[in-house]
Amino acid sequence: MQCHFDCRNLPIFMPGFYKDCLDAWSSLTRKEVFSYEDIMNQFVWNNKYILSRGKSLYHAFLHNTCGISKVGDLVSKDNIFLGSEKVLNAKLTLSQYFHLMGVVSAIPIEWRSTNKGKSVHVDPHPFIENSFRVPIRGEMFALSRVSSRILYGEFRSRKEMPPAVQAKFKEEYPSLSIDWKEIYSLAFNVTLDTTLRVFQYKLLNRIIFTNDKLFKFKLVDSPSCTFCKTNEESLEHLLFFCKITEFFWKEMLSWLAILKNERVDFSLVDVLFGKFDID
Ligand SMILES: [Zn+2]
Repeated sequence: MQCHFDCRNLPIFMPGFYKDCLDAWSSLTRKEVFSYEDIMNQFVWNNKYILSRGKSLYHAFLHNTCGISKVGDLVSKDNIFLGSEKVLNAKLTLSQYFHLMGVVSAIPIEWRSTNKGKSVHVDPHPFIENSFRVPIRGEMFALSRVSSRILYGEFRSRKEMPPAVQAKFKEEYPSLSIDWKEIYSLAFNVTLDTTLRVFQYKLLNRIIFTNDKLFKFKLVDSPSCTFCKTNEESLEHLLFFCKITEFFWKEMLSWLAILKNERVDFSLVDVLFGKFDID
């Protein structure tokens, strides 16, 4: 899991689920290589930066038997590639040695030249639990400190897009100046009733199937309003303009006026998105 891989470069076929998992991991652990230490700690195998003919590399014998896994395993203390003790002690056959030479030439030239003249000691196996680090909200966190909830939030924030319906509402109500976050949370602040919350969700996503919509789907014989039977039943008509609805709002406003001892007015925008300027 410490490999710096890119699924597209892996020389294997894998089922979609595993590809999604690896893609998610890869996107989360993406970190550009810049220091000498980073380079020495890079995994040689399945690394998206170490490519031969566009594919990342893997050699089971060199990895499992010779213990070569990181760039640091190939480099001697004097910074000579293929001069490390691991390589010298591996008793490689000529073809295995050629393969290793191929691996070295696939390592980006900038990485190889960064090594020159520098003698920084690098432990080739600094494997500790906290060596898995993931960026959360721009900071690096040890994986052991990251809960699935935090991880879910991070993935969501990377993919979050405003609902398309917001653009449609803005087009129809250009003067709408209420914050969407406030609009969406209103139903959760004023009621515990699930049906009302669901209704508000449907309203804000324009998925209330009024007769004008149903008529287009050929599910009803007429687009007329269920109550007044005179106008087309659009969302706006049903909730505000219909004379039956108008009557309901009048009754409700006079009840509210008595209760608060002051006159309260409702506009279409208030009905659709909520009224925020009353206590
Ligand atoms: Zn009507």
